Amino acid sequence: MNRFLRDEYLDAMGIQQWVSRERPATTDTLPEDVTITPAAGCGSADEAAVSGLDWPALEDRVARCTRCVLHETRTRTVFGTGKRTADWLIIGEAPGADEDRQGEPFVGRAGQLLTAMLQAIGYARDEVYITNILKCRPPGNRDPLPGEVDCCHDYLERQIKLIGPRLILVVGRIAAQNLLQTDLPIGRLRGSVHRYGDAGIPLVVTYHPAYLLRNPADKAKVWEDLCLAMKTLEAGQPGSQKAD
Ligand code: URA
Repeated sequence: MNRFLRDEYLDAMGIQQWVSRERPATTDTLPEDVTITPAAGCGSADEAAVSGLDWPALEDRVARCTRCVLHETRTRTVFGTGKRTADWLIIGEAPGADEDRQGEPFVGRAGQLLTAMLQAIGYARDEVYITNILKCRPPGNRDPLPGEVDCCHDYLERQIKLIGPRLILVVGRIAAQNLLQTDLPIGRLRGSVHRYGDAGIPLVVTYHPAYLLRNPADKAKVWEDLCLAMKTLEAGQPGSQKAD
């Protein structure tokens, strides 16, 4: 495992690291000319190739992924589901226990609420595409670590390119902050239309359905977000260029 990701895991577990006095830390320092880019933390030789994969090859690559430690505890990878030419792309955080067992995103209680939210705006689940920023379940449903998100990022990027959605609906703070590269709270990210990637795909943020299960009074806000997404789509341009 790459050193940066390992350090992140140890930090997250509250484990203090000791550096031997005999062995100077110079072996752990980066050469001056190395820049860390989002995918650089994965230490995987297959990174460059992901951007050229078609659907079957991408799904297979994800199913065999061992880039981060989440592969050790997953039951199944959760690639994504739905229409691969959909106008709407829904992006959540990470599989939970039900999703890990079934290999499909948003199938637990939160997923049932997401399905109901989509039905409320006239879409069946199989008319949109649903995926997560992480393809494997973090143990105990802990928050994804930044290095894990980085390791999965090019899989998501390739899915976005292949789908060419006209609108991205991001559910939940973690997915929104990661995709928009910001620390702003979700309350500040809702209510406006962001643009994603080079194609400038309209992106709308709303609360995670699991949050809504705990805070049903905020359903009205989610309804506002869905209306914003619908209006954006109706007013919008054709889909982004789909990859071959
Ligand atoms: N929560 C998510 O963010 N994604 C899932 O797939 C399930 C629950």
